Amino acid sequence: MELGDPLGLHRVIPEADPSAPLPLPQRASRLDNDPQKRFASEIVVEVSTLNIDAASFRQMEEEAGDPQGVGAIVLRTIGHRGKQHNPVTGSGGMLLGRVSWVGEAVSERAAVGDRIATLASLSLTPLHVEKVLAVRAASAQVDVEGTAFIFATAPFAKLPKDLNERLALAILDVAGAAPQVARLVAPKQTVLVLGAGGKSGILCCAEARRRLGKSGRLVGIESHPTYAKELNSLGLCDMVVEADARDVVAVRDRVAELTEGEGADVTFSCVNTPGCEMGAILATKDRGKVYFFAMSTSFTACALGAEGVGADVDLLIGNGFAEGHADHTLALVREDNRLRSLFERRYT
Ligand code: NAP
Repeated sequence: MELGDPLGLHRVIPEADPSAPLPLPQRASRLDNDPQKRFASEIVVEVSTLNIDAASFRQMEEEAGDPQGVGAIVLRTIGHRGKQHNPVTGSGGMLLGRVSWVGEAVSERAAVGDRIATLASLSLTPLHVEKVLAVRAASAQVDVEGTAFIFATAPFAKLPKDLNERLALAILDVAGAAPQVARLVAPKQTVLVLGAGGKSGILCCAEARRRLGKSGRLVGIESHPTYAKELNSLGLCDMVVEADARDVVAVRDRVAELTEGEGADVTFSCVNTPGCEMGAILATKDRGKVYFFAMSTSFTACALGAEGVGADVDLLIGNGFAEGHADHTLALVREDNRLRSLFERRYT
């Protein structure tokens, strides 16, 4: 049996242009998702649920005009690309399933029967789907029958026994957010979160509050009225503002008003829609930091926009991976009963 490449190059289908260098799986247009092929460095998973990236789910919902139409678009994308890699947003998501086969070169990583969630994006995970069984818009999850392949370098987590599997999947989807908040926030700072009432937004607020303690100031901006109310009820933020973060001037002015004209020390963008970059940048003080967790973020909008208005802020790209991120974020949810029950209501 062939070993296969640890980065997954063995599943990359070369680009149509023969002079193009072979891309890594995430950048590849297409992956070989043949469910019969076996490589000794891979783990094979019988997939039960896809947790679609929020920016991707929203784009597909808008394209279909109806959440149930997302299932057909997912099948189309996987049919074309051999992976759930949204060609519009460029993002993926992750999946939940049962290990059905383990290559001998990676036998220490998992055992047949383990229930796992992938922590590498679906945009680089070879996936074959036979059937879509259900679309659950509230959690951006799609139940399927399918097969996925995990490369030797791709992280995954065994599902914890004390949490509902769908809830664990939802939390693990955004597991990279809270650990970065822990690295970036210090006591006494002013922290701003855009899209604060969504999944990653709430986790960022919870972690920021943990870092700030009773000091500093935590402001959440959220456009969804129910989510804004639910965030407020958790008591994490000093202020929750129901507003559209695409209204850049309104965001800047509202944050200035709430911070005596100072602006935020650190801003986290957790929205699922494009067009919020400059709100985040203008609401942040000079030499502050803006962390773009949102996959709907445009690199050019941030870099050229900040330059254009002379904003001397550090622009940080949201790396979905941080050492120990899964355990960190699961622990954050376990230790806050109100947050945990809100997530159970929303995502299970
Ligand atoms: P989510 O639960 O859908 O949360 C996004 C929140 O932002 C929702 O409450 C949404 O309201 C709100 N929102 C949308 N447009 C807004 C606007 N114009 N102004 C203010 N609030 C707005 O999404 P999530 O799962 O937390 O994901 C958030 C972002 O992180 C997405 O862009 C996703 O792609 C990205 N992500 C990144 C990584 C990474 O590794 N960096 C991993 C996973 C996800 P509605 O519900 O009304 O839309």
